[in-house]
Amino acid sequence: MLEVNGVTITWLGHDSMKIKGDGRVIYIDPWKLKDEDKEPADVVLVTHEHYDHCSPLDVEKVSKKGTMIVATADSAKKLKGDVVVVKPGDTVELNNVTVNVVPAYNTNKSFHPKGSGWIGFIVTVGGKRIYHAGDTDRIPEMDDFKVDVALIPVSGTYVMTAEEAAEAVNRMKPTLAVPMHYGDIVGTEADAERFKKLVSGDIEVKLL
Ligand code: ZN
Ligand code: ZN
Repeated sequence: MLEVNGVTITWLGHDSMKIKGDGRVIYIDPWKLKDEDKEPADVVLVTHEHYDHCSPLDVEKVSKKGTMIVATADSAKKLKGDVVVVKPGDTVELNNVTVNVVPAYNTNKSFHPKGSGWIGFIVTVGGKRIYHAGDTDRIPEMDDFKVDVALIPVSGTYVMTAEEAAEAVNRMKPTLAVPMHYGDIVGTEADAERFKKLVSGDIEVKLL
């Protein structure tokens, strides 16, 4: 777990994250949740319909009355509850959490075509802007993101390699970067360690 000014970020494996701040509980791409990781959520964000990101069972596990779910149209079809359908460029405010919806797509492989309209999120909570990249390569839009914390995939194959992720972060210049999308399906801690070495010294990298 990581704490920044009262906001906590917990990595639940792969791309699954829990963010808590301002009394709010936010999950992004909850998947394979363990009992101790399950907390009733105010907001659940789902980046795209791939099974390791959009898990109806896990979304249901953290849903309560009033939980708002934010997802792409294809993910929304699989999910129950109050789902707000979004696309890249949208901004939504739900249960006092501001969510900027940003694009996520591949540039040198075809698993996540730009035309699918899949997404990442910039979540503002506790005055901090936290970016969850989703499944993406390094894309030019990232250069304009102003974020405090960047949660970035490093596994290669379906997403950025550690080298590409480091370049993305070095250009984006968050205060803090956290590698993800390894340790399940694809990618190992060696990818995360390589990423850490390649990120410039003024950006803190934390392996969760
Ligand atoms: Zn995917
Ligand atoms: Zn993925």
